[in-house]
Amino acid sequence: MRAPSNALSFKRRLLRWFRRAGRQLPWRATRDPYQVLVSEFMLQQTQVARVAEYYPRFLKRYPTVRDLANAAPGHVREAWDGLGYYRRADNLHRLAQAVVKHHDGRVPDRPEVLRTLPGVGPYTAAAVATFAYERRAAPVDTNVARVLRRAFRPRLGNGMRGDRMLRELASAILPRRGKAAWQFNQALMDLGATICEARKPECPVCPVQTACRTGKAGRGRGLGGVSERASVERAP
Ligand code: SF4
Repeated sequence: MRAPSNALSFKRRLLRWFRRAGRQLPWRATRDPYQVLVSEFMLQQTQVARVAEYYPRFLKRYPTVRDLANAAPGHVREAWDGLGYYRRADNLHRLAQAVVKHHDGRVPDRPEVLRTLPGVGPYTAAAVATFAYERRAAPVDTNVARVLRRAFRPRLGNGMRGDRMLRELASAILPRRGKAAWQFNQALMDLGATICEARKPECPVCPVQTACRTGKAGRGRGLGGVSERASVERAP
């Protein structure tokens, strides 16, 4: 897929805003793949503020992938207490065991290999690849999908599914350098979580308004009825 005509301007504005106003989150201060994985599992179905509270505690108890792999299942669930959706804890535990057994304790860096691990789908695989390894991968969660749909208003074609089309769009507009891709992906998430919200997009104060097809057309208000359909794993 080719990048839309407004992609360059969108990218520049978004990155400029992120460098000034991006959220300081504990998992953004690390590139440790295990720590990034833990944060991504926690962020599936749990709000950022709550994860920020539990994340350091969990890592203190299980500082490495080997520590987690060697833990008793009951203890892992106990450490997960307060986050809910315990299936994530079970999957993370099994994932740690698989990493130790099949990957010599090193979390893989390629999305296609990450996807073979328990509890890892397309979103988490791309998230770990970019947030831990600064690889050029595009994780598309609910927030990112919403921003992309509004900013670029892509049309489905050739029988392509909506989620696949959004992933291809996200890849087409991704910066070439891994470090910039890391920032761009984090920035898209911040924009969707704080300004381009589902029910109330704040177009008048949005840093990308002049590069956004919805914001430019003055259609930001009253978007509550726009379909928010997206095939994603994480919705912080
Ligand atoms: S201008 Fe409005 S619709 Fe476009 S990205 Fe910003 S908040 Fe979302």
